[in-house]
Amino acid sequence: MIDLLIRGGLVLTLEPNTLQGPVYADGAVAVEGNRIVAVGPTAEVEAAFPDAREVIDARGRIVMPGFVCTHTHMPYVLGHNMPVDFSQLHSFWDMLQKMGWKWLEDLTTAQGVYAATRYAAAKMLKSGTTTVCELVEAPIALGRSPSPLQCSAQAVEEIGIRAQIGFEVTERVLGVPVLERLERANAEKGFTENLAFLEKHPPRNGSRVEGRLGVHTAFTNSYQTLRQAREVADTYDCGIEIHVAEIPRVFLVEKFGKSAPEVLEETGLLGPDVIAAHCIDLTDGDLEILRRNGVNVAHTPMSNSLGGNGVARIPHMLELGINVTLGHDCFFTLDYSQYFRYMYLLHKAHNANPMLIPPFQALDIATGNGARAMGLDDEIGSLKVGKKADLIVIRPDSPTPTTPESVISFFTMTFEGRQVEHVIVDGRVVVKSGRLTTADEDEVHAACLEEAKILWRKNGILI
Ligand SMILES: [Zn+2]
Repeated sequence: MIDLLIRGGLVLTLEPNTLQGPVYADGAVAVEGNRIVAVGPTAEVEAAFPDAREVIDARGRIVMPGFVCTHTHMPYVLGHNMPVDFSQLHSFWDMLQKMGWKWLEDLTTAQGVYAATRYAAAKMLKSGTTTVCELVEAPIALGRSPSPLQCSAQAVEEIGIRAQIGFEVTERVLGVPVLERLERANAEKGFTENLAFLEKHPPRNGSRVEGRLGVHTAFTNSYQTLRQAREVADTYDCGIEIHVAEIPRVFLVEKFGKSAPEVLEETGLLGPDVIAAHCIDLTDGDLEILRRNGVNVAHTPMSNSLGGNGVARIPHMLELGINVTLGHDCFFTLDYSQYFRYMYLLHKAHNANPMLIPPFQALDIATGNGARAMGLDDEIGSLKVGKKADLIVIRPDSPTPTTPESVISFFTMTFEGRQVEHVIVDGRVVVKSGRLTTADEDEVHAACLEEAKILWRKNGILI
């Protein structure tokens, strides 16, 4: 007897990718433990596995692998809608130093990390994101117990999303402009936090929560720290998550005489185990550096638009064969469909070319490419026998028929996170009929609200 049978749905395998992956109009997925043991036409799967402990009737639904978010900061939800003085934000530089650091990250406690991560993970699961690459930024929480990474992992463990988690290594000094002074000792604190976590949550040990080394940027770290990051990544085989070229290229060129990709290549940090978020203001030469080092790009179009940072050259990267994935930074809603659609439309508008990023490519970016970037492509990103059972069941409620011919366009045109009905991660049903099964949603929400109030009060907001 198997543990779970999902039957009668329109099954998108996306294996090996969206264009070539079989689609079953009346399909089923069989799950035993945390693995997929069969995918195919319902009649065939049911003949092979006639008994299941739990059956999900997916008639009229889409069954597919969950979405992969390759870059975010879940504690950022504490700053959602915060009534700060936007007139102080004249540039992205202001936004980073004030909204990002002074008003948010530099005030976030371990308790805030825990409450916000539970809330964000729950919302992400409910709208179809089953895997996230999380970069925790909470410097005042370092060196205390519980540590910020422990709190992040505990939240992720409880809510049930799959995650790689790291703490950003940075030499930045709280309250001091980064151009004025950096301190190596701060990077050491970040390394200590990451190393303790990597010892407890080593990558590739089959667990749902893994460590990944977090590094802030090329401009908030010395060459010594960037070199050390590569050593740690090699020692632990954990990969690196880092922000690259979120700020204008000229800033780094003025400081180092080199662009961010040039600095990172010179220090040896780049490689196919690196997820580089943003990658906006880059020349052809910079893109070539990313390509030849096999770097994965986490595209974050909405937060880049918010900061007026410009538009990353995603179509060009795809042409070069760079592995492009989708992240979100947790600045806005946690509904992946919004970032997905924004990415799908942005490059068409920006380049006045409707042929860019066709629907099948957008879906690959959101699933298989993300799995590859995280080094998890043998485990997740498509529905295949032997892979981990991370999948979602969507009730499209579209005004038109959802068929094997129309289903790919459904995602770019009408998909919304609220249509996600059931979510399975690691073989466990974590969302059933739109409700989280792993925690009390009202309690998770209330706890996040309390932590948000604490953080807002630190900013002088009376609440
Ligand atoms: Zn970020």
